Amino acid sequence: MDTSPLIYLIIYLLYYLILRKFKFEFFNLILNKKGSMGKCSHCGTFGHNYVKCPQLTREQVLEIKKKKKEEKEKKLEAKKKKLEEKEKMKMSDFTIHNNNDYEIAVYWGFNTSDLLTRLQYIPAFESKVSRIRKSCHRIVAFPSLEVISGNSNDAESSLTYAQNTDQYIVAFDFYMKDFPDSSVELHLPYQPKKTEIDEWKEYGLKSHYLLKEIEKLTSIKKDGNVIVHKKYENIETFIDMIQDISMPNNCSDVDKERAGIPSILTNIT
Ligand SMILES: [Zn+2]
Repeated sequence: MDTSPLIYLIIYLLYYLILRKFKFEFFNLILNKKGSMGKCSHCGTFGHNYVKCPQLTREQVLEIKKKKKEEKEKKLEAKKKKLEEKEKMKMSDFTIHNNNDYEIAVYWGFNTSDLLTRLQYIPAFESKVSRIRKSCHRIVAFPSLEVISGNSNDAESSLTYAQNTDQYIVAFDFYMKDFPDSSVELHLPYQPKKTEIDEWKEYGLKSHYLLKEIEKLTSIKKDGNVIVHKKYENIETFIDMIQDISMPNNCSDVDKERAGIPSILTNIT
């Protein structure tokens, strides 16, 4: 018996079955060029995508479409948020030029609170750079004398101050997200507030300072003694008396600064 037709038939059937089973894979392998249809994300078959998937109803396709769109938007939103977060954390330089004849105390805080922490001092007619986060920092500059801590020569290390209240005189106060520049020039005529005792201190310290200057011009110091120049003999008794005026022990440089005589706060010697 001639078996060849049977063999052909079997080969044909096998070929048909293989082709049927791997129809799309086969075409895909042969024709898979750029732009041709990939694998269906729903059933995993090559040759169609989920939109054309025979296993899905139109409603299901629309549902998947909606989900995919939402996922895409979510991803974009997360990416945007990450970028914004990165931008927020960026530090930048901020320069303050103190064009005043008094020292400035610079404080920093957050946009969300009135609590301020001392950052640095800027002496009269000097400039200093601060590292800040524009997005969330507030910078406040006070004349140092406004915020002196007790009887010390230091400004408070931290304090609470709400913006635009008249609790202190301020040379600069900004939420840095609202301040467009990277530097500022400070000019603020400033007279520290004086109590009655401050006025008496000024009266005494200024008078004493003048007497000391007169003493310096009219005499020399030798072995701790004041020796008056010959030409000032007629006022020698008065000059001798200057050294007997003692300054109170608790007189601080802040007192001198308030009185307008040289102190370590002005660096004038
Ligand atoms: Zn499919």
